[in-house]
Amino acid sequence: MKIGIISDIHSNSEALNSVLENIKEVDEFICLGDIVGYGADPNYCIEKIKGLNCRCIGGNHDFAITGKVNINYFNYAARAAILWTSLQLKKENFNFLLNLRKKIKLKDNVFAVHGSPQDPLLEYILDKDTASFIFSKYDFKIYFIGHSHLAGCFSFNEDNNKIDYNNFSNGGYVEISKNKRYIINCGSIGQPRDGNPRASYGIYDLKYNTVNIYRVSYPINLTKGKIINAGLPGSLADRLSYGR
Ligand code: ZN
Repeated sequence: MKIGIISDIHSNSEALNSVLENIKEVDEFICLGDIVGYGADPNYCIEKIKGLNCRCIGGNHDFAITGKVNINYFNYAARAAILWTSLQLKKENFNFLLNLRKKIKLKDNVFAVHGSPQDPLLEYILDKDTASFIFSKYDFKIYFIGHSHLAGCFSFNEDNNKIDYNNFSNGGYVEISKNKRYIINCGSIGQPRDGNPRASYGIYDLKYNTVNIYRVSYPINLTKGKIINAGLPGSLADRLSYGR
């Protein structure tokens, strides 16, 4: 059983299509949220996700569109994109965002959430102190997260209480160990921020107990042109080239 893990698509249809073409032989997809926001193809991306028939979590951008997250949490460019997106969305796609869940259970002690178990929509797990708190407060083997757009893995060793972080900005591999617990971010499809502009996704193999992170190139200039033509802030196009 293999699960494709996709997150933070942010209305980037070129990146989403390149990833879906690249993923071979998964039994199921899960989507960790932020289907929309920032990019120029919100309806297309929602419809593509609907077509995967996958379990899907809502992210802070998805829930800002539906009024469940206050728009004042966002910076100027993000706010502009949220307002623009809400004008573009078809009714049925708005309703799809409205009904997204906040958490997925993949199997015993393996879960997925957009931000963190403590605050599913808004908290970023960016450092070992925050990860340490989450490992101590919540009972889990693996938590898959999105939200930061940084592909990487925090692991907690139960034998010596040591926390490690592995950066997966160029892809990577986790072999799930008996004595460790994990918080894994498979990265962002539509707006990577770890210095690598290529789209990021993961495959969780339940038979072999591994997680692989892959990076895929896509036609970035096409995506940037659509953002500019839509009248969205130019910074949202520029940052795609740098993966920041
Ligand atoms: Zn996001």
